[in-house]
Amino acid sequence: MKVALLGHRGKVGSALEPALVAAGHEVRGIGAGEPVDVAGLDAAIDFTTPEAGEGNVRACLEQDVPCIVGTSGFPLEALGEEARERGLVLFHAPNFAIGAVLMMRLAVEAASYLPHAEIVELHNAAKRDAPSGTAKATAARLGGDVPIHSIRLPGLVAHQEVLLGGTGETLTIRHDTYSRDAFAPGVLLALERLPTLPPGLTVGLEALLDFAPSDEGN
Ligand code: NAP
Repeated sequence: MKVALLGHRGKVGSALEPALVAAGHEVRGIGAGEPVDVAGLDAAIDFTTPEAGEGNVRACLEQDVPCIVGTSGFPLEALGEEARERGLVLFHAPNFAIGAVLMMRLAVEAASYLPHAEIVELHNAAKRDAPSGTAKATAARLGGDVPIHSIRLPGLVAHQEVLLGGTGETLTIRHDTYSRDAFAPGVLLALERLPTLPPGLTVGLEALLDFAPSDEGN
């Protein structure tokens, strides 16, 4: 496919670009300050900033290009509506790492038996938003008022623990991302499945995986 990669010089973008090329995609990298010229491309992928993401996605939709959004920290509902009206797909995953999706699923299953849960999310000091999109998505799926603790430190990539407390016991479900390469398989899967998704917003890698029907909000 011919794809635009917005934020191609960023930490995720620079890991993603070679993976896209290796998978046979033709990539047009678009960085900060460059025009969002995507007309005629098959899809656009945005891993930028919460400030840039919204305008980037709107510009892509206006050029009739479906979008895969990794950027967290900005609302997608109105853009999803715009995409639906235009007959375009807008896909967002709070976390493109397969293990993170499994962590969320396992946490939901465990919470039926151990309902007292708290989330600790740990990310690199440069991450702008807190709590992380993954932590918010996990909390929403666990239901109720689940406290989230956010840690930002150099040296970290992306990590999350869901701690579940019972009588005289705890269960910790932990996922660690050691390199941004972890996000590439999920983005490649989203590209592959893009033509099969309905117009409008689809949220969550789970919607694309075979192990479960999507229970994530559209
Ligand atoms: P990063 O290293 O700061 O990279 C952001 C990139 O966006 C930079 O290269 C920046 O360019 C570029 N940029 C800024 N404004 C732009 C614009 N208007 N158009 C095009 N490019 C623009 O951040 P990152 O770690 O790669 O993360 C990017 C985003 O993805 C963050 O929101 C992060 O939370 C999210 N993320 C999501 C997932 C997921 O699985 N969903 C995983 C990891 C990260 P300059 O270098 O020129 O400033």
